[in-house]
Amino acid sequence: MERIDFLTEARKFEKDMINLRRSFHKNPELGFEEVVTSRVIEEVLQSLGIETKRVAGTGIIGLLKGTKVGKTVALRADMDALPLSDEKKVEYASKVPGKMHACGHDAHMAGLLGAAMILSRFRNILPGNIKFIFQPAEETEGGALSMIKAGVMENPKVDAIFGLHCDVSIDTGKIGVKYGKANAASDIFEVEIYGKSCHGAAPHEGIDAIAIGAQVVTALQSIVSRNVDPLDSAVVTVGVFQGGYKSNIIADRVRLSGIIRSLNPKTRTMLCQRVADIIRGVTSAMGANARIELIPGYPCLINDNNMVDFVKRQGESVLGRENVVVVKEPNMGVEDFAYYLQHAPGAFYRLGVRNEKKGIVHPPHSGLFDIDESSLTVAAAMHAAIAFNFLWTQ
Ligand SMILES: [Zn+2]
Ligand SMILES: [Zn+2]
Repeated sequence: MERIDFLTEARKFEKDMINLRRSFHKNPELGFEEVVTSRVIEEVLQSLGIETKRVAGTGIIGLLKGTKVGKTVALRADMDALPLSDEKKVEYASKVPGKMHACGHDAHMAGLLGAAMILSRFRNILPGNIKFIFQPAEETEGGALSMIKAGVMENPKVDAIFGLHCDVSIDTGKIGVKYGKANAASDIFEVEIYGKSCHGAAPHEGIDAIAIGAQVVTALQSIVSRNVDPLDSAVVTVGVFQGGYKSNIIADRVRLSGIIRSLNPKTRTMLCQRVADIIRGVTSAMGANARIELIPGYPCLINDNNMVDFVKRQGESVLGRENVVVVKEPNMGVEDFAYYLQHAPGAFYRLGVRNEKKGIVHPPHSGLFDIDESSLTVAAAMHAAIAFNFLWTQ
C-alpha cells in the first residue's frame, strides 16, 4: 500500500475549495431546492472523470471506480441552507435575503469535492469504489431517507459510510470523534383534548379542557423524572398550549404540542408509549377525549466503535495525535446521517472550524455563523485518507 500525505495533497486544492465554498455560501438554497448547487457538484465530479447519478430530485451520487475489485466506501455531505438572513459583513455573504448556509453545509460540500479531486488522481491504485453522496434537505425532512429509498446504499453495496459536521467549539486543524451515541433521536407529538363547553359559572355542566390539559402537562413531567434511568438522557418538552375563548366560557378543546428527545432506541420507544398513555389516561380519567399524533423524527445517531477507532487513527496520522479530540458528551441535536448507519457501519465525526482570532466563534443556525476556511483542507484530507485507507486495510 502506498503512503500518501493527504494534507499535502489537500493543500493543492485549497483555492478551488475556498472558491466553491464561497460560491455555495453566496447562493444558498433550501432543502430539496438545491438546483444550482447540485448542478455545480455534478460539473465538478464529471470534470474529474467521476460518474454521476441524480436521485431524490437534487441529490447527487458520484462513483469513483478503482482499477481493482474491492469494497465500496461512501462519503457523505449535506447540501441545504437555512431560512435565516446572513448578518456577516464579508464579501462572500449570502446574496439571497432570508437564506443562509448557517450550518456549514457549504463547507461540507466543498470539503467533499476537495476529497474527490484528491482521490480521482489515485484511481489507478484504488482497490475498490468510492461513493460520493451529496444529499439534500438535512435540515427539514431527512433527505438521507430519500437517498436511501433511491438506492444510494446499493449498487454497489456500501460497506462503510463516513461523514463530518462543522463544530465551532473545536479549533481549526482538529477533529472530534465520539464513540457510540453521538446525536439524539427526535419525535414530535401533536395533541387535541376535547371536553365540553358551558358557562364558566356552571363548570359542573361541562368538561374543562384547559384544566385537563394542565393536568396532562404536569403528568408528562413525570416521564423523565420517574421512568428514565437517571444515567440515561431524555427530554419531553411541551412547546405549545393553546385553548380557550373568553374568561367566562369553559373551553371545549385544547391543543398541545411538543418534542421527545432520546439517546437510546429502547428509551425512545418507552418515551413515545408513556407520552401517549399519560395523555390518554389523564384525559379519560377526567371525562374527556384526546386525539394524539406522534410524528417520528430522525433516529439516534449511533457510531460504530470500530469505525470511530479507524477515523481516530486516520486523524492521528493525517493531523497528529494532539489534533484528535475524543468528545465525551453526545449532542441532543439531531442529524439524519443516523439513517445511513442503519444500513452500514460507519462513523460521523466533527470538523473543528473555530478561530477566535478571526472572530469565528458564533454558533450554527445564527446569522453570524462562519467557518475558518483553513478547515477545508482538513476536511478533504480526512475524507480522502478515510476512504483510501479503508479500501486498503479494512
Ligand atoms: Zn443545522
Ligand atoms: Zn448541519
